[in-house]
Amino acid sequence: MEIDVDRVDIFPVAIDRDEVFRISTGSSLTAENVLVRIKSGNEEGWGNSSANSVTDETVESILKALNVMRTEIENSTIDIEENWKKMREKLPDDPAALAGLDIALYDLAGKLRGEKVYEMFQGVKDGISTDRTIGLMTESETREHAKEFMKRGFKAIKIKIGLGLMEDIRRIRAVREEGGEELKIWVDANQAFTPEESITLCQKIADLDIKFVEQPVKVNDLEGLKKVTSQTDIPIMADETVKGPEMAEKICVEGLADMINIKLAKCGGLTGGRKIIDIMEEYDVEGMVGCMGETSVSIAAGAHLFNSSSKLKYADLDSHFMLSDNIATGLDFKDGKLWISKENGLGMKVNEKKVEKYSMDIEGEL
Ligand SMILES: [Mg+2]
Repeated sequence: MEIDVDRVDIFPVAIDRDEVFRISTGSSLTAENVLVRIKSGNEEGWGNSSANSVTDETVESILKALNVMRTEIENSTIDIEENWKKMREKLPDDPAALAGLDIALYDLAGKLRGEKVYEMFQGVKDGISTDRTIGLMTESETREHAKEFMKRGFKAIKIKIGLGLMEDIRRIRAVREEGGEELKIWVDANQAFTPEESITLCQKIADLDIKFVEQPVKVNDLEGLKKVTSQTDIPIMADETVKGPEMAEKICVEGLADMINIKLAKCGGLTGGRKIIDIMEEYDVEGMVGCMGETSVSIAAGAHLFNSSSKLKYADLDSHFMLSDNIATGLDFKDGKLWISKENGLGMKVNEKKVEKYSMDIEGEL
């Protein structure tokens, strides 16, 4: 898919969350993102690069990488997939930066072709049932958050664990008590446990109808991941371990995990996401579309991707709900579901005044 790129603009933004978000690997109040705007004639496309610890990318590293990419593509005609391959080769450690560029290119391509992004992937228009995530907190706070999220219409809750096996189990049990049989419950350990602890955890929550446990063991512990997967009944989902199509294929071929969590920031955007889906379809492996601390711009991209394959069983597209302000409109939440806009591309309208308001002052980088 070829696009004439006239110019690329880059906007680092910092937006506070409503409360500190804590997981087993760290905690933060502010979500830092870099928005990417690409212009072609009278059209423009927007993307979002998310600073995150999984790919070890900061706003500074993202700006540096995006500046290199910008120099390469401004005033030239590019093919989206070829560009993804080329940039990934040139900047292998910057997938979140590449994601912002790749998402913006798809948004732009959709607008130029008069299509929604999910249509470009032969997807369908449908509401997307997303969860809300509960970070690490006490049992009573966990309970209160679960009640509040259910009141707002969410039908699934993801519980972050890693406080210690017994406390985590009490928290999961508390959410099941609050949610009754109807609530879908997912669990994410963010690498907190050894394989043995992970197996014990799964045995102790076996009666709670948990849909999956995400990344119980360390990112590089492939042997441990496989051991937990083979010895538990609850499906095990790989997240941090899978940063691109190569690892997704290894997981499918070797049966290292039951499911895969695709995040655009890990795999360089929609092109990388589609490649992982192709692999999942080939090996009949199901998965989820997840997110980092992103704004609604790339959450919308995740939603379009989600609607492109039946192998994507779950959507964890909730980071924009945690932010104190929304910098773009076009993705609605109604009846517990996300609804994609009728407009072409990603269908998002970025509020440039807000982009300015939350702009990060990073000297010498722009
Ligand atoms: Mg995760």
